[in-house]
Amino acid sequence: MTKLRLAIVGAGPAGIYAADILLKAEKQFDVSIDLFEQLPAPYGLVRYGVAPDHPRIKGIITALRDVLDTGSIRLFGNVYYGRDVTLDDLKQHYNAVIFSTGAIKDAPLDIPGIDLPGSYGAADFVSWYDGHPDFPREWPLDASSAAVIGNGNVALDVARILSKHADDLLPTDIPSNVYEGLKQSPITDVHVFGRRGPMQVKFTPLELRELGELNDVDMVVYEEDFDYDDASLAAIESNKQIMVIDRIFRKWRDGPQSDGPQSGVPQSGVPQSAEPQSDNSQSGASRRLHLHFFAGPIEVLGTDRVEGFRYERTEPDGAGGVRGTGEFRKVAVQAVYRAVGYFGSPLDGIPFDERRGVIPNREGQVIDDHDEPVNGVYATGWIKRGPVGLIGHTKSDAMETVRHLLKDQANWWSPAHPDEAAIVALLEERGVQFTNLQGWRNLDEHERALGAAEARERIKVVPRDEMIAASKG
Ligand SMILES: Cc1cc2nc3c(=O)[nH]c(=O)nc-3n(C[C@H](O)[C@H](O)[C@H](O)COP(=O)(O)OP(=O)(O)OC[C@H]3O[C@@H](n4cnc5c(N)ncnc54)[C@H](O)[C@@H]3O)c2cc1C
Repeated sequence: MTKLRLAIVGAGPAGIYAADILLKAEKQFDVSIDLFEQLPAPYGLVRYGVAPDHPRIKGIITALRDVLDTGSIRLFGNVYYGRDVTLDDLKQHYNAVIFSTGAIKDAPLDIPGIDLPGSYGAADFVSWYDGHPDFPREWPLDASSAAVIGNGNVALDVARILSKHADDLLPTDIPSNVYEGLKQSPITDVHVFGRRGPMQVKFTPLELRELGELNDVDMVVYEEDFDYDDASLAAIESNKQIMVIDRIFRKWRDGPQSDGPQSGVPQSGVPQSAEPQSDNSQSGASRRLHLHFFAGPIEVLGTDRVEGFRYERTEPDGAGGVRGTGEFRKVAVQAVYRAVGYFGSPLDGIPFDERRGVIPNREGQVIDDHDEPVNGVYATGWIKRGPVGLIGHTKSDAMETVRHLLKDQANWWSPAHPDEAAIVALLEERGVQFTNLQGWRNLDEHERALGAAEARERIKVVPRDEMIAASKG
């Protein structure tokens, strides 16, 4: 073997890091990599998941772009694995494939009323505000009060975008329709609910702290949630991240007393009854972001559409978890967003773990129902290990997968058409409107030009046909 012809499916960070690591690895043969991506733009959830007001994280795109710019990787955009290319096609043209297709759907939350109009998945909302072409362009932002279920960073992203004033998002790359949609929103109160306590959250301190810095939005926390048990106190002592989180909450809890009512510092309150009401009279912001802990989701209320959210007060169970207390509460909301995790999608001809939403694998080597390796097929990123972790984690993930790929030469496929022109001919013959790296550069430039015209860095193009047209110049 003098050359490894490798297909990578999915041009998110996992796929691009895998290509980079493979190109830099010590090996006895040359490598030629074709990267297939179903969208005309690469970068996966860095472009279509990371919130628009997190430009520092979006900046990771620069590093990913450098990898694509090395000239050693061919990008085939707007090519959908399972429709435009199949596993058989890949076997005919490559020695192996790495799937890095990530996750784009919401994990289910099985509670009554979750399918009512006005109840949404966070992933769908994220795809809307980040301008993903495969999602509806309109989003019904007609609620004055909304509930967000979940205690991870995605829940905070959703709560922040819902509460933030549209004009404060204008410096970002949000598409025009998203700006217009958010501008019309009558929202005044966003309630975030977590089953566990404030010291068991999955937020990172940076994302939490940022909530307190939003313009014309008051933070509301409830003193009853901060009666720490021994496990929480121990966590504050032993874990720096939790210590910082505690400090952030403390500032919000102490706010009005320490800084006075004129400061715009968040107000803490106590739910007064089975329908918690917050008293924000001292702060005066036009929007409030409430954080509720020890609140297990029970039901989305309403007949024809969402009218409220019912939850059960929980308490620490002494073993690191929580248990229900039998005390039920409700809050009137017109929209519910569940941010309880993302979920991967199955791929044609590839084993899939329906329970976890991942491709079953051993350290990146895909395995079948009998735990046997599927020769030539590998996985990396969120589709390999589930939708948790930051962009950086996909790098270590890719290292592991590439290590196995390199050791596994004896089991690679022997393609009938390994020459680089053959796959291009196949896509052309099928009439696939594929784009390439130059196409992405054209689209990138076009988006920057749209932004420059309005003194913004970029305005995203959303419709797929417009993306393709811009790619083709
Ligand atoms: C809302 C949200 C906010 C986040 N914020 C941060 C943050 O601030 N900081 C941070 O470090 N991490 C953040 N993350 C996590 C980060 O986005 C992930 O760790 C990372 O994107 C996972 O990379 P991946 O390549 O496995 O998957 P993805 O990024 O999902 O990329 C998968 C790619 O595969 C493509 N694809 C899928 N199916 C097919 C197919 N059939 N054919 C061809 N192509 C296909 C997709 O279009 C996509 O481009 C966030 C995630 C979410 C959901």
